[in-house]
Amino acid sequence: MRQSQLLIPTLKEMPADADVVSHQLMLRAGLIRQVASGLYTWLPLGLAVLRKIERIIREELTRSGAQEVLMPVVQPAELWEETGRWKKMGPELLRMRDRHEREFCLGPTHEEVITDLFRREIQSYRQLPCNFFQIQTKFRDEIRPRFGVMRAREFTMKDGYSFDTDQASFDLTYREMYDCYSRILTRMELDFRAVEADTGNIGGSNSHEFHVLAESGEDTIAYATEGDYAANLEKAVAAPPAPRPAAGQALAEVATPRATTIAQVADQLNVPASRCIKTLVVEGDTGPVALVLRGDHDLNEIKAEKLDGVASPLTFASETAILGALNCKPGSIGPVNLPIRTIVDPEAAAIADFVCGANRDGYHFTGANWNRDADATDVRDMRNVCPGDKAPDGQGELLFLRGIEVGHIFQLGTVYSEPMQANVLDRDGNTLTPIMGCYGMGVTRLVAAIIEQNHDQHGITWPEPLAPFAVHIVALNYAKSEAVRSAAHELLARCLDEDVEALLDDRDERPGVKFADADLIGAPHRIVVGERSLKEGNVEYRTRVSRDPQPVPLSEVLARLT
Ligand code: ATP
Ligand code: MG
Repeated sequence: MRQSQLLIPTLKEMPADADVVSHQLMLRAGLIRQVASGLYTWLPLGLAVLRKIERIIREELTRSGAQEVLMPVVQPAELWEETGRWKKMGPELLRMRDRHEREFCLGPTHEEVITDLFRREIQSYRQLPCNFFQIQTKFRDEIRPRFGVMRAREFTMKDGYSFDTDQASFDLTYREMYDCYSRILTRMELDFRAVEADTGNIGGSNSHEFHVLAESGEDTIAYATEGDYAANLEKAVAAPPAPRPAAGQALAEVATPRATTIAQVADQLNVPASRCIKTLVVEGDTGPVALVLRGDHDLNEIKAEKLDGVASPLTFASETAILGALNCKPGSIGPVNLPIRTIVDPEAAAIADFVCGANRDGYHFTGANWNRDADATDVRDMRNVCPGDKAPDGQGELLFLRGIEVGHIFQLGTVYSEPMQANVLDRDGNTLTPIMGCYGMGVTRLVAAIIEQNHDQHGITWPEPLAPFAVHIVALNYAKSEAVRSAAHELLARCLDEDVEALLDDRDERPGVKFADADLIGAPHRIVVGERSLKEGNVEYRTRVSRDPQPVPLSEVLARLT
């Protein structure tokens, strides 16, 4: 392709509102342009990369035995009502009415549509297992679209859905998808990690996320220094604490004027935060609920909102509600004689002689102990693990990494097949409700994730399998030099013959501009055609990442690449 005929609007300046390097480079290299918040147009270079990603995904899924379909973006409300999600989904689901006042939504995911297809078309256990996928536009009205295509409102997802007769069969399908995702990301030359994950509002029990490791990632991954354990922080657990020591101190109430945070209390009483108890009050199904943690631990909101009787989404009680129920302000609450339901994190339940709020403004207890002074019968994990915690299987410690979630595979069980009555007949003619799995991969997000891992200070450094062009032919003084033009055209023609994707910079620009753009665009191979080297029958060859050009005879340069 000739660069003069392609829309590749590179930018010299750093775009003002792009916070992460992938977003900056996607704009600067002319891959995308924003249309409105979270909505993007893909320009030729960006689209070329997108197509390469799609192709790898298609090939590997097909190899795994999945079949491709294409479902509509617009989905009728009735299907979502069958599973209860029409009510359950918040404003992320963009709803609309057609001219007949019928309700629809823009599909954020397709469990309902595929399950509807399945129940209409598949009747017998003999047709199972089956596994469908599509590569298609999704819409989620994200509360904070950010980082360019990383968290957009409209984006491309590969979503897949499987149906199996029983758990054993499903386990094989799930394993196959896990391996397939690993193959896909390996082919993209990404440094990634599969981790145990929370299932979010898709539902189901078991799930794994695939994270591309990057500092800019929105997720924290906890992984074990020794064994295989790795989980999203949302879900990560540590080994249970050592048994609680016996009580040693007597309960005493002490004045803690103006101390309302753990740090202030710990400081005034000269105890470590790990010996203090933090009591948070959240809304529950039947009044407020106290959540009790060790002072140096953070509440994990995803775990907390799943606790029995705790409102989901997690909602902290207002100061007025707390004053009403407990007669003290949030900074002085503690589990001793607390008149509301109390749930205690295992780590908090494992300390003795602790400091906690006295349920009286300006006072705390020291020497407090469970059983004797406060009730710790309801003990549930609800904290974020910390770096250095013991791994749950005892193999090593947990450490943290940042990751970009590019894929998520779920075990759905019968969460969709049951309410939608997507049944088949089993061997004996009885009704069988299939076990479903679902498998998402963020196609557009992958482009950003790939750039996060493949760039330098000059621009993108595409891995070979994903580059929009394998070779960038940079023709210097193209407009004026007949020798350069003819050598460049010859090279381009030979690239075409050999199926090597090449971009010819035939623009009337200074060499400095051409080199800077070539660095930005990031084709893995670069051939510079200039009058001086041509006089010796040479062109200059370099890879994107090696910075030293080497003279190579014009006639040999392609062989060198292929
Ligand atoms: P997240 O936690 O990042 O919001 P999710 O759990 O909502 O992701 P899934 O419903 O599992 O995501 O969707 C499957 C995949 O689609 C994700 O792994 C991610 O790669 C991609 N994806 C999800 N939301 C977006 C978005 N707003 N923009 C771009 N890609 C997205
Ligand atoms: Mg989401």
